[in-house]
Amino acid sequence: MTLPSRTDQLLIGDAWRDATGGATLPVEDPSSGTVVGAIARATGADVDAAVAAARAARDGAWGALAAYERGRLLAALGRAVVAHADELAALEALDVGKPLTQARADVTALARYLEFYGGAADKLHGQTIPFLAGYTVYTLREPHGVTAHIIPWNYPMQIIGRSVGAALAAGNAVVVKPAEEASLTTLAFAQLALEAGFPPGAVNVVPGLGEEAGAALAAHPGVDHVSFTGSVEVGVAVQTAAARHVAPVTLELGGKSPQLVFDDADLDAALPLLVRAGLQNAGQTCSASSRLLLQRGIYERVVAALAARYAALRAGPAARDLDLGPLISAAQLRRVRALVEDGVARGVPVLARGAVADEAPAGGHYLAPLLLGPLAGDDRLAQEEIFGPVQVVLPFDTEEEAVAIANGTRYGLVAGVWTRDAGRQHRLARQLRAGQVFLNDYGAAGGVELPFGGVGWSGHGREKGFEALYGFTTLKTVAARHR
Ligand code: NAD
Repeated sequence: MTLPSRTDQLLIGDAWRDATGGATLPVEDPSSGTVVGAIARATGADVDAAVAAARAARDGAWGALAAYERGRLLAALGRAVVAHADELAALEALDVGKPLTQARADVTALARYLEFYGGAADKLHGQTIPFLAGYTVYTLREPHGVTAHIIPWNYPMQIIGRSVGAALAAGNAVVVKPAEEASLTTLAFAQLALEAGFPPGAVNVVPGLGEEAGAALAAHPGVDHVSFTGSVEVGVAVQTAAARHVAPVTLELGGKSPQLVFDDADLDAALPLLVRAGLQNAGQTCSASSRLLLQRGIYERVVAALAARYAALRAGPAARDLDLGPLISAAQLRRVRALVEDGVARGVPVLARGAVADEAPAGGHYLAPLLLGPLAGDDRLAQEEIFGPVQVVLPFDTEEEAVAIANGTRYGLVAGVWTRDAGRQHRLARQLRAGQVFLNDYGAAGGVELPFGGVGWSGHGREKGFEALYGFTTLKTVAARHR
């Protein structure tokens, strides 16, 4: 196996090394609750060293490459990911607890991002601007320099692909801080990058605690841009830290994304996505569709159909590849349970429930999927990100009411609209407060080409698609005066 033989080290330049002081953190398998390994616990000194290595790469061999050479390296890395797909999927399933099929889909997405950004590296260019007589004016798209990437545990490979892939394509050298709960595939990715021929220091990885390695990275004056994906609370802390050295920040935060189902919807097309978009990765997805807004005329019918689907769902260990895996940790399970129990104690009805498979190990962090409702739009369960296998239903009568409910949270990440009325489709596409709106669909199977990001509490800046490359570059205007 060419993946790192040890997982308890960090990558700085071209050397795997212990964290300063030698501390490590345990790796837990969420499917069983057992400790299966260790990762390094990087310190502030390690972050300093990683930022210095990235700067040296940017000022040296990495910065000297032509755009097409960066693109070739990314493409080679994408092929290496495909060649190691089974190992990477097994690692992610072990570390995150996601069913193997979902882990494989994440490997495919990582490879697609690398292919996409590899192909885009030499197509990112400035413009010439008509100006006064006697001038030639043009713009240059330049990398920020050293970019930091703070990654959550729920989709490590996909987020590495869309964030690190785009940053490298634009010519930045990167320092990556994976989540303490799930670092293994990030370490494997870094090893594959070394083997693919990326110059030392182009890719550095500092696993460890958020409040230690993550905070040191966000606050580091040698970092020129921070890409953060995670919770609102930490996102605010990261942006505040980066502001002290005036570094730009991309924040990809949470969501409470609705799907609006109108009486005239094609329900056969909608039903599978209503459920899947909410429960994928056990609902631990920023773009999870956790609110289902159902128009009164189809309300009873859709709830009955959803209940039948829920009754067939099973949660179990990642290796069994059932509908859902466990939650990431005992702490997340406690948090989600507490939110649900609070709702039920307030009288929120349970409309449907799936099951935890008999063979699920007792130490795993399982929760049977739950459909709750009907709720009012201002209920806590309709306002807060649950981040577990729980969806809520909200009935509505009119289009105006549906838009008001959909837009009635602080988040704005994704929305889906199910209607055959073309006028309504495009009216709502404009009215809904979200970074992505899907008409008669939800998520478009990932869509690496499609710019993604939020408004409000869901964050700012865009990743994915070509748009991400603008975020990972800065624009220089050159004005030449001549006769
Ligand atoms: P989190 O905010 O707790 O952690 C995210 C990352 O930040 C981890 O690497 C963590 O170590 C690090 N971190 C923690 N404290 C830090 C600090 N003080 N300074 C710097 N870094 C710190 O989030 P999580 O629980 O891992 O992930 C779940 C959240 O992420 C959810 O809210 C989810 O919606 C969001 N998310 C958003 C997107 C998106 O694209 N919008 C994608 C995935 C997840």
